[in-house]
Amino acid sequence: MSKLAPAIGIDLGTTFSVIARLDDLGRPETITNAEGDKITPSVVLFEGTNIVVGKEAVKAIATDAGSVAECAKRQLGQRVFDKLLGGRHYPPEALQAMVLNKLRQDASQRIGEIRQAIITVPAYFDEIRRKATQDAGYMAGLEVMNIINEPTAAAVAFGFKEGFLNPDGQGAERCNILVYDLGGGTFDVTVMELNGKEFNTLATDGDVQLGGRDWDQRLVDLVAEEFIRRHRIDPREDANTEGRLWRECEDAKRTLSARMKTSIACDYRGQAIRLEVTRDKFHEITQDLLDRTAFTTRQTLQAAGLDWKDVGRVLLVGGSTRMPAVVEMLRSLSGKEPDTSVSPDEAVAHGAALHAGLLLARSNGPPPRFNIRNVNSHSLGVVAVDPQTNRRRTAIMIPRNTPLPVKYKRSFKTIKPNQRSILVNIVEGESPSPDDCAQIGKCSVKPLPARLPADTPIDVYFRYEENGRLTVTVNVADKKIRHEIERDNSLSQDQLDSWRRFIVKPVG
Ligand code: ADP
Ligand code: MG
Repeated sequence: MSKLAPAIGIDLGTTFSVIARLDDLGRPETITNAEGDKITPSVVLFEGTNIVVGKEAVKAIATDAGSVAECAKRQLGQRVFDKLLGGRHYPPEALQAMVLNKLRQDASQRIGEIRQAIITVPAYFDEIRRKATQDAGYMAGLEVMNIINEPTAAAVAFGFKEGFLNPDGQGAERCNILVYDLGGGTFDVTVMELNGKEFNTLATDGDVQLGGRDWDQRLVDLVAEEFIRRHRIDPREDANTEGRLWRECEDAKRTLSARMKTSIACDYRGQAIRLEVTRDKFHEITQDLLDRTAFTTRQTLQAAGLDWKDVGRVLLVGGSTRMPAVVEMLRSLSGKEPDTSVSPDEAVAHGAALHAGLLLARSNGPPPRFNIRNVNSHSLGVVAVDPQTNRRRTAIMIPRNTPLPVKYKRSFKTIKPNQRSILVNIVEGESPSPDDCAQIGKCSVKPLPARLPADTPIDVYFRYEENGRLTVTVNVADKKIRHEIERDNSLSQDQLDSWRRFIVKPVG
């Protein structure tokens, strides 16, 4: 077994990342980093020409905040990270690649060279963010075998533990599970059907701008407002002070998961306060955030066509589900005791490693132990012009929550003789107005063969892969052309290669 490539899964989180592998018996285990920790903060410090990732970078938030990049995952899809680092703008996926590179290098030190891995993404990630994640893997020197959804990975880890993945494939009885994943920066909820070795996603939804960070922020604001009231200055105006305060608040939040009250200290420009915060007060100032997750949870269940009575398990994933308020909310919403049997920090990476094992096994012989079916989390469409109003609108081709992979054909006709190109604008989102959807890119089909008469049919096929990535093929006069989508905010192959050389330095 050890001769074969190891099965590696990586949970590339907004705030924390985890890398896991399958041991010789096919069981998932987390690989500790160079500091000996199972989880690595997804934080990057720029120290001169040195790039430091993880715990040390977190410490620098209180002293050198201007040189620290956090939560790059939240900005995937943008051209550059909004903070200037060492005088330079970095693409968010390059920052993610630095985190991946640390995981890869540290793990390689322990178990030998790692080349391939599966990386997870929130189910709610759109095509652009999936592409950016894949690119991050490439820039970190990895061959990304696949990208899979975090809740699916968590469900696989759960299924493994519960015996759904027994070698005979005859798992426990059929069961619907709801995966509620509240991490540091994103929230995801997914309804899945586990049926023997079949893992089917029924519906998924979420919020890429909602997570534990927002709970921290409420505490930061609470303390800062009290500071202003007493001392007439705002400690948030200084980045290092704010960084220190944020660390205090995150710590206090964790304490409030275990105790009924705690206190938070803040000093700035020779003034200091210490504020006592009770768990009740914390609940009160964050209730609306929790309500947002409850709303999305109800909606997702509805989209899956299920009732709470049809749900066998409510699975908790993500560090923020340690907050008692989350457990209470889900208990009263579902009428069930939420399941905490998988480790909220490790489940996603473990599921990804199991999936990697599945892919490697597929190429090595034995039959797969499980199958996964996913759905798309956003509708996919093209920009069309309404002939009646002459207004641009979104023509939806693949509605959200469609089982993947799926192929959709749209036929166009050339307007004039000898037309040499067709331009298709691809968007993702639920709004009828294309401007409110995510612009995935353009697909310009050219050159078309010469001398086509007007009205020549041209079939454009959109294939949405299982991993949520899109490929486009075009059929013109019986000729098949595969088309790359031109993306506005995506790195070119040359840029990717140059970042890869910059990020992946030989291990000393
Ligand atoms: P992500 O995958 O988004 O990086 P994680 O699932 O690792 O996130 O969860 C990280 C979040 O969980 C952070 O916001 C952290 O503050 C929070 N967290 C971890 N432990 C606790 C706890 N005991 N109580 C409350 N929040 C916690
Ligand atoms: Mg996570």
